[in-house]
Amino acid sequence: MTSSIERQLVVFDFDWSMADQDTDRWIFEVLAPDIRREMKTLQTEIQWTDLIAQSLAKIHGRGRTKEEIEHTLRIMPFHPAMVRGVTKLKEASNPNTTFFCLSNANSVFISTILESKGLQNLFEEIVTNPAHFEPTGLLKLRRRVDPSGPQHGCKVGCSPNMCKGEELDAFLKRHQPDYDRIVYVGDGANDFCPILRMRSQDMVLCRRFRGLERRIAEEGEQLGLKCQVKYWAGAWEVEEIFNSL
Ligand SMILES: [Mg+2]
Ligand SMILES: [Zn+2]
Repeated sequence: MTSSIERQLVVFDFDWSMADQDTDRWIFEVLAPDIRREMKTLQTEIQWTDLIAQSLAKIHGRGRTKEEIEHTLRIMPFHPAMVRGVTKLKEASNPNTTFFCLSNANSVFISTILESKGLQNLFEEIVTNPAHFEPTGLLKLRRRVDPSGPQHGCKVGCSPNMCKGEELDAFLKRHQPDYDRIVYVGDGANDFCPILRMRSQDMVLCRRFRGLERRIAEEGEQLGLKCQVKYWAGAWEVEEIFNSL
């Protein structure tokens, strides 16, 4: 690399990227496995965020409490090496690193888990589906892109609730000047759209054996993927890469 990196942005997907599980599925695997099973068939008919919202209403109807949901999130697998890796990178001053979370989970799941790991101040911004607990304990969840308003124009296959590529572009506009380097940590098929917008000096840390790895292999060259790609399987390897940045 010829120019020096003074200001860098680390973008994190949440499920299976920062966390070592998928929040939407984990909640129901722990609290209502029959609903988890039912989700497998309903997901072909109902948009995913709407399906999670509907399933959260179902467990509320069964008397599952806010405390049970929060506890379930706190015990979800989360690798200590990930906590170490991001904490050290944030503390370092050269380069200076900004963290941005871009996730199809929801604000309650993410903030509850981050707080339980002492990472509540890590991210500059968290862009995800909005959620909140009602006074009754019902966890209310909505799509980031309201289904009754204008929809996003993504052609790369992002789900209707949010285009991660458009959200990354919007974040970069809000935080000018351009970062010297962007590092994107992701695993899923919906992480492919944002990385298509990254430059040759940027880097994607792609988790192995999941949708993003497949899309990079099948569509990366054809769609002109420019950023560098590094693969990892365990969070300890992300820590290792962060230590070398
Ligand atoms: Mg993910
Ligand atoms: Zn998109």
